[in-house]
Amino acid sequence: MHEWSLADAVVRSLLGFMASEGLSSIKEVEVTWGEILELDTGIFEQAFYELSKGTPLEGAKLVLKEEKAYFKCNSCGAEWDFKTADEILSREFEILEEPAGVKESPLHFLPDLARTLLRCPKCGSRDFDLISGKDLRVSKVVA
Ligand SMILES: [Zn+2]
Repeated sequence: MHEWSLADAVVRSLLGFMASEGLSSIKEVEVTWGEILELDTGIFEQAFYELSKGTPLEGAKLVLKEEKAYFKCNSCGAEWDFKTADEILSREFEILEEPAGVKESPLHFLPDLARTLLRCPKCGSRDFDLISGKDLRVSKVVA
């Protein structure tokens, strides 16, 4: 679902970029997406190509690059990854095991709660930052 709105934002910003740079076409676009977004790359690609149709962006090749998510504690300096964060939250909730045994990532459907419930695995502090892998951006344009 959010793949379409993210693709729409990317297409809009690229069209704006092309207009301001006076570009009539683009060969390749590299989009870096943060692991925390759990992007469905298939849907994102489909949305990107669909939304590019009939615009100066049509024909541009999309390259997707995943950026791993890392958290950093502001109290003790410890760093941990998305998988560890996921495990911490799973322990906090203990409600995530579905009848079929399918595990949903709590970070996926509870992004705001994750922010308040996650703690540093080393010192227990809640004062931490997501230092990478949190957003989606156009990382390269080949005209
Ligand atoms: Zn810490």
